[in-house]
Amino acid sequence: MNLIDNLEDAFKGKEVEKVPAASIVSVALIEGMEKANSGFPESHINAEKMVALGESAHKYAGLESINIPFDLAIEAEAMGCEVDLRDANEHIPEITSSPYFDDLESVEVNDDFLESGRIPVVAEACQIAREKYTEVPLIAGQIGPFTLLGQIVGIEYLMKCLATNPEEVKRGVDKCADAVIEVVKAYNTLDIQGDCMYEPSVAADLLPPEMFDDIVAKPLERVAKAADFNIVLHVCGDTTPILKNSLNLGYNGFSFEDSVNAKHANKVKYELKSNTQLVGNVATDTLFKGDLEGVRQESFKALDRGIDILGSSCCVPPGTPLKAIEAMVKARDEYYEKGLDKTRQINEDNLSWTPDYIDIPLPVANICEMQTLKTYKTI
Ligand SMILES: [Zn+2]
Repeated sequence: MNLIDNLEDAFKGKEVEKVPAASIVSVALIEGMEKANSGFPESHINAEKMVALGESAHKYAGLESINIPFDLAIEAEAMGCEVDLRDANEHIPEITSSPYFDDLESVEVNDDFLESGRIPVVAEACQIAREKYTEVPLIAGQIGPFTLLGQIVGIEYLMKCLATNPEEVKRGVDKCADAVIEVVKAYNTLDIQGDCMYEPSVAADLLPPEMFDDIVAKPLERVAKAADFNIVLHVCGDTTPILKNSLNLGYNGFSFEDSVNAKHANKVKYELKSNTQLVGNVATDTLFKGDLEGVRQESFKALDRGIDILGSSCCVPPGTPLKAIEAMVKARDEYYEKGLDKTRQINEDNLSWTPDYIDIPLPVANICEMQTLKTYKTI
């Protein structure tokens, strides 16, 4: 199977040989770090080490993608924030101070943004990975504009401003979208097959769903339009209340958690006639625990319900065993070997169905949420 063509076909909504088992969200596992001698924080700052870690889940678990980078603080750092890279494999970098803290009006994109911080390291890593792997999808990533704004001005202050000064919030989100678009344009030159834009802070428990269209829809559309590659929007938590909004922004994919019923998401996609493909939604919790039978069952369930690209529901926790990733890829293979894809086809042909049960969301702490919660705790 040509992995790049298969993933490209999945993003186009065409018939695929098999639904890709390619991760769109970050996969940086401690086992991979140990095997590749590329732990944190070195793999955040050294392009060769970044590639060694980024390729490890493909090399050792058969994942159909190479994913870089591994944290959500890169753009904030390039805008002048100080970042603690943290000296432990299980911890992701944390923003410790910002020139824009509690000051929405001063938010601007610096002229040397693209040359600042670790952005050049990510670009170099993309080039190395591309040359080394010409037949494996290369998936990059960056933060989304609303989450970036929350990181640099402080999420609690931003929530307050949403109520008191929404117009200034909109200006700030637009500025941050300009920064994100600069990153996207740089990725346009790097021959990547996909990209995850992490927007954990537009989750319904932070941004009220009724404010979604007014505050973030237009900047998110601008980012999607700027990308010459397959760009995927990832939002953490239960995104059921914003499915209609998210599937209508011109993204190639929407990545969502296991708390969303993929069957329901597929129905919304069908009703909107959306070309945004469904990405996810095997629970990070099941993967982290190494519950191989659980991973198998959840993979079958996601495939039955119309997931277009099978992967983790959120950034894969570093402590997840490589075996769990391998189990997901093998489950996808077994699904086709046993002809279980007939169920998927029947469901696709009957998209007027209504979901026949409600999933109970699991209380999973994922690293995207941790990033949001930890911002500014040290100030
Ligand atoms: Zn997430």
